[in-house]
Amino acid sequence: MTGKSVFLYSDAYLKYNLGETHPLKPDRCKRTLEILRRLGVFDDENVMLVEPNPAAEEELKLIHSEEYINFVKRMSERGYGLLDLGDTPVTKGIYEGAVARVGGSLEGARLLAEGKATHAFNFGGGWHHAHRDGAAGFCVFNDVAIAARFLLKRGFRRIAIIDIDGHHGDGTQEAFYEESDVLTISFHRYGFGFYPGTGSTEEIGENEGKGYSVNVPLPAGTSDASYLFAFGEIVPPLLSAFKPEILIQQFGADAHYEDPLVGLALTTHAYEEIAKRMHALAHSLCEGRLLILGGGGYKPENVARIWSLAFLVISGAKCEKSAYEKLHDSVEVRRKASEKISNEVRKVVEEVKKKVFKFHGIG
Ligand SMILES: [Zn+2]
Ligand SMILES: [Zn+2]
Repeated sequence: MTGKSVFLYSDAYLKYNLGETHPLKPDRCKRTLEILRRLGVFDDENVMLVEPNPAAEEELKLIHSEEYINFVKRMSERGYGLLDLGDTPVTKGIYEGAVARVGGSLEGARLLAEGKATHAFNFGGGWHHAHRDGAAGFCVFNDVAIAARFLLKRGFRRIAIIDIDGHHGDGTQEAFYEESDVLTISFHRYGFGFYPGTGSTEEIGENEGKGYSVNVPLPAGTSDASYLFAFGEIVPPLLSAFKPEILIQQFGADAHYEDPLVGLALTTHAYEEIAKRMHALAHSLCEGRLLILGGGGYKPENVARIWSLAFLVISGAKCEKSAYEKLHDSVEVRRKASEKISNEVRKVVEEVKKKVFKFHGIG
């Protein structure tokens, strides 16, 4: 189950800077690249490192309005202020940083569409909160939705987006809410006051899209055993029924137990297992085509470990066993997180199945 794997990175990503004291650090993708370099991953003949071009304005328009694009440009030149009502500040050059990152997701999509790669990784992407007309939750342009729209234009007819960020993928869901050609599945923390407040099991899509927006809202503290149970009950049956031609995964890393913003409780074990399952699903359903994007994650050293593990699992690149083990959380922490499945999560899973499985002919 191999094939070419591409890692996308450009130093221009570093211009996506929300300010010194902001929790989102611009160098998480670079840190991941440095770990993989140190492990000798790029010596593998099946691994490629590609520097993408920035996205063109026309490509941003696949999802965003011209007014909003111009607004970001103006704010970026000015170099201060806010792009939304509170948490997405501007620094000089953020436009260039944002289009560089969208360019990475588009290049990954392009390489997959042209059969030049089987798996593409743009950990600089994954900006799932951005809306057509506005920034939100640290996200400027929604590269997840842009990449999916681009692939539809290239002739793909069914695309599945699996979002494992600790927050609801609201911007991505909104972009395809009335369509049945893009299935979105989002796992996220949900509850009173938690950002962005959407993503209940009630949100299943509208019109043509009914049943094609799937939400798995999880309680604070959800750990590996419960999360992997929910993932296993929901993702494989839906994907088998939907028969996607390509998979996009938003691989936000802020559901980790040490993340300072989210309050879910995954360990690296869960991330490794999710990567394994997504990889297997991609090969069994769509000839391996899998586009992995980044997302949230506010303890940068943990994010880099999680993304490195995901890359190693999916690319199959060789790496020394002891170095691989060092990327993981301690065995003790992992064992505890795998102990039991919570009843609350079992209930959520039953609710999700009841609400959406019928639209896919699953009993
Ligand atoms: Zn593979
Ligand atoms: Zn997040």
